[in-house]
Amino acid sequence: MASDGTRSPLERLRAYYDHEELTCPACGYEDDDGSWESETNGREVHYYHECPCCGSVREHTLDVLTE
Ligand SMILES: [Zn+2]
Repeated sequence: MASDGTRSPLERLRAYYDHEELTCPACGYEDDDGSWESETNGREVHYYHECPCCGSVREHTLDVLTE
């Protein structure tokens, strides 16, 4: 099945984090060149980002929702 641009919720969420949450809430540094690391064990996705300026770590763990 061809995809005509419809992305999965996880991909959209990843894009959200990449674009909206790269500004460190601790020091305000905008990590424009950074990205969230993500890994999954099949049941949940773990996102991780460390601020290169102050070292503040943010993490999100999200359940993988299967329909
Ligand atoms: Zn920071």
